[in-house]
Amino acid sequence: MPRTAYVNGRYIPHAHAQVGIEDRGYQFADGIYEVVPVIAGAFIDEDWHWDRLDRGLAELRIDRPVNRKALSLIGRRVAGLNRVRDGLVYVQVTRGEAPRDHKFPTKPVPPALVVTARHLPVPKDLSEARMIDVITGPDERWARPDIKSISLLPNVLAKQAAAEAGAYETWMINAQGEVTEGSSANAWMVSRDANSGRVVLRTHPADRHVLNGIVRTALVALAGQHQWQIEERAFTLDELLAADEAFQTSSGNMIRPVRSVDSQVIGKGEPGPVVQEILDGFAAHVAAHGGV
Ligand code: PMP
Repeated sequence: MPRTAYVNGRYIPHAHAQVGIEDRGYQFADGIYEVVPVIAGAFIDEDWHWDRLDRGLAELRIDRPVNRKALSLIGRRVAGLNRVRDGLVYVQVTRGEAPRDHKFPTKPVPPALVVTARHLPVPKDLSEARMIDVITGPDERWARPDIKSISLLPNVLAKQAAAEAGAYETWMINAQGEVTEGSSANAWMVSRDANSGRVVLRTHPADRHVLNGIVRTALVALAGQHQWQIEERAFTLDELLAADEAFQTSSGNMIRPVRSVDSQVIGKGEPGPVVQEILDGFAAHVAAHGGV
């Protein structure tokens, strides 16, 4: 079945979908994107995705191409036209098309909106622990990775390095020796507090230095109900290597327990009890959206 994309007001077969060569996204990566997971036809945590898109547009001073209701309808229509019941809806907004010049166009141009959808096989059981191996590398991104910019070159290189090392993801380490996040996922570790003995889940604070992931947001929101002790506090590679468990979160791959980091096994190298609780809790959250 040929895929259909939404491009600036029209639904067009991918083969014919085009934006101009002077689109500022193409020339300057002057734009942002969102990826909304679709499970059993349900858009998961959709509003949080549109909130993040709105925030990014405001930060970059790009006008909203359409209002939220219209965007949601376009997303559903693109998912429907592509018969995507399990997969991802991709939304990209750029500052639009104008003669190449770094500064914003002096004559206002409409922002460009592209929406596509892609099927992804979702595991039958979202609680299933599918482990991954991770490598680490330097965080070489710009200073505002909290903005979901389409400028992803360091992330592309980091993911490629992982693939070439036979791993799934690269977790990035900043100049202070702290793990910020993965090239396309938030990074978490689980350990027992030496003083109190309580089990703590740690992830980098949602400040300017990481993307505030929506699956991350969901776990923070679900923490109270499950008595998960989440600490938004950065951790070092040494702390990670000594952790009982580690995992990462993203809309594309949900929750993935980590077997090893730089070839060093984390914990027992098996899905641990805490990550299993997280998987079960998130599966229930998805089911509550009507996704199975
Ligand atoms: N960090 C980065 C750098 C990412 O690209 C992503 C995936 N978009 C995430 C974290 C996870 O975000 P989300 O849970 O919204 O997919």
